[in-house]
Amino acid sequence: VLAEACARAGHDIGDATDALSLLQRWDEVEPTLRAVSTRLDELFAAGLQTHPLDRLASPIPRPGKVIAIGRNYAEHARELGNDVPDEPLVFAKYTTSVTGPFDPIPRPGFVTDLDYEAELAVVIGRRGMDITEASAYDHVLGYCCANDVSARTAQMATGQFVRGKSFDGFCPLGPAIVTRDEVADAEQLRIMCRVDGETRQDSSTSLMMFGIATLVAHCSAATTLEPGDIILTGTPPGVAMGRTPPPWLQPGQLCEVEIEGIGRIANEVVAG
Ligand code: MG
Repeated sequence: VLAEACARAGHDIGDATDALSLLQRWDEVEPTLRAVSTRLDELFAAGLQTHPLDRLASPIPRPGKVIAIGRNYAEHARELGNDVPDEPLVFAKYTTSVTGPFDPIPRPGFVTDLDYEAELAVVIGRRGMDITEASAYDHVLGYCCANDVSARTAQMATGQFVRGKSFDGFCPLGPAIVTRDEVADAEQLRIMCRVDGETRQDSSTSLMMFGIATLVAHCSAATTLEPGDIILTGTPPGVAMGRTPPPWLQPGQLCEVEIEGIGRIANEVVAG
């Protein structure tokens, strides 16, 4: 639809018709997309067809990197008995864990302690290495909601978080990328998680210890950030592991993450 809309409006975006290839050519295609978006009503009236969606995929189905930040809200560090880190605690999730905003979260048969973590995801739009804090936002395309789903025993078993954070379906993202210009201050957003409608996390991104500019600078030190890379900025307090007894996610439950101004994702836990 996007390619056809551009063609009908007299623009050629070539083969940049999926999210990642659009982002890789963002500076070139953004003026076209903005121009075409103002003419959509006219284009639909002139016969442009939409196609029904049976599933909304992740806005970046296969990012180059999913960088995650641990213990970035002091209250969350404390609820798990951890010290507050002196520098961002960086780990990664396999990119195959990424899934759509309304896709199921499979709970592996060997997992009994499945947990949720509502997080603001920062989407990188412009390539860079050794990015300064002052220019960090120039590299940010926008934001989406994420759930840093965690299998706690697998996460903690060896001191390396990656395995228990990376099972298939453990990184729902979406529902869409809200571009930076549409968010007045990404560090002043209410962030919530609900399980079957019960509020489990209700906080504010203002409580992040390391802010977005600091995280972009830190994560890009000697490391190239590329368009479509994701930085998960950490979770506020209220995870199951911090409660007594822990209300672990169970098959059949619906887990929602909602961030003010960004949207809402909702994922059913299924036996996997
Ligand atoms: Mg997390």
